[in-house]
Amino acid sequence: MSFLIAIVGRPNVGKSRLFNRLSQTGDAIVHDFEGVTRDRQYADGKWYDNRYTVIDTGGFVPEAEEPMLRQMRNQAQLAMDEADLIVFLLDGRDGILPADREIAQMLRQATKPVLFAVNKIDSPVNPERHIGEFYELGTELYPISAEHGHGVAQLMDEVCSHIPEDQEEEAHEMHARIAVVGKPNAGKSSTINALLGEDRLLTSEVAGTTRDAIDTRIARGDQEYLLIDTAGLRRKKKISHQLEEYAVVQAIRSIDRADVVLFVIDATEGITWQDKKIADVVKNRGKACVIIVNKWDLVAKETATAGEYVHAIHREMPFMAFAPIMFVSALTGQRVHKILDRVDEVFEQYTSRISTSEANRFLEQALGQHNPPMHKGRPVKFYYASQVATRPPTFLFSVNRPQGVKPSYRRYLVNKLREVYGFEGTPIKTVLRGRG
Ligand code: GDP
Ligand code: GDP
Repeated sequence: MSFLIAIVGRPNVGKSRLFNRLSQTGDAIVHDFEGVTRDRQYADGKWYDNRYTVIDTGGFVPEAEEPMLRQMRNQAQLAMDEADLIVFLLDGRDGILPADREIAQMLRQATKPVLFAVNKIDSPVNPERHIGEFYELGTELYPISAEHGHGVAQLMDEVCSHIPEDQEEEAHEMHARIAVVGKPNAGKSSTINALLGEDRLLTSEVAGTTRDAIDTRIARGDQEYLLIDTAGLRRKKKISHQLEEYAVVQAIRSIDRADVVLFVIDATEGITWQDKKIADVVKNRGKACVIIVNKWDLVAKETATAGEYVHAIHREMPFMAFAPIMFVSALTGQRVHKILDRVDEVFEQYTSRISTSEANRFLEQALGQHNPPMHKGRPVKFYYASQVATRPPTFLFSVNRPQGVKPSYRRYLVNKLREVYGFEGTPIKTVLRGRG
């Protein structure tokens, strides 16, 4: 689980600029998923050896009709609830505006570090000279230019001094780590309670690695699972958490720690924008997934209903087509006992590996059926393939000109991989490596 940095500030102070700067990893491979663009609201970054996730809280609070001050309060609240560190961004050209004072006031209640950065100080020479007015806020200041990069190193050094040393990736274990996500009231806690209520299960609470996360270890026969942040999900939520946007940020936190995501959708509501947002996170983070359409007891049954749901899910979230869909009722317990069986299946796919010789046989066959289109009048040549990673399965293709491989051809290869090997329930990553 990486350290979560939230950027808070008025519109136009430069939050997205700073966000972009902090999320440049220079490592294109990491985010190289089939057909999905990176989310601009959260991203992973690295400063020397310190890994973190940065979120632009502005992006989570819908701008539309909300008055600016309300938006900012929501942003600040979101950051205070969810982040490990807050960067409060001010605009060095505008000076301190009333909204800034109000947010500064709010952030004083925060129980985590808050760094005040004054942006748009574009002169690298003696930047402190330009921020005198801001000392009125009574705190240390970091003059920066998100645009040109000045001062960002000092800010990041300070940020990183707050990142705990031993935030190593939790060891890859043999059993599946499960996150239950979904928008408020979809039925996450009911699903967890229904799962844990099964008498075939042995359960015990274990402390998670992050602040106040309590996980539950489950054993069924000789299979073990870890249900992530069960305490947080079962606890009655704080008022601010009722805000629906926050569901996405909470989801990011637990999805990061998971192998398999149980994505709970409320059958009575259809697919909403939060569902799509959460689905994006699942996909971008490369996790296995089972879609749980819950409250099925409330849906009037006609023979076509389930099929229509599958259709709606595929139409609204085409990039989730890899995930199996279950129709359950956490309330009555209908089909809840099958959930862990599905988890076993997708976890197996998520961790499966095919040999290099097999991968190359596959490549030869795929090329034979459908050659890559020419690029600028010249042939695109694939040399070899290998599966370079699991969790999720990741395939490297060696090719003469990677930039000549169209997204549609990449999708073709992924679809072909699914056709031949299944991989149900897991995303597939592809990496193209140029030669010479
Ligand atoms: P946000 O609304 O807070 O996300 O702000 P943006 O990142 O979209 O930036 C708002 C405007 O300020 C854009 O036109 C940026 O180009 C500009 N801007 C951002 N950072 C800087 C900076 O360091 N110096 C200058 N001169 N302009 C900046
Ligand atoms: P969460 O916010 O996602 O954790 O949702 P909860 O588990 O707290 O459920 C929200 C509400 O929906 C509660 O009133 C539940 O009793 C109800 N609920 C959850 N699952 C079902 C279900 O399968 N059928 C029906 N009818 N109600 C459900």
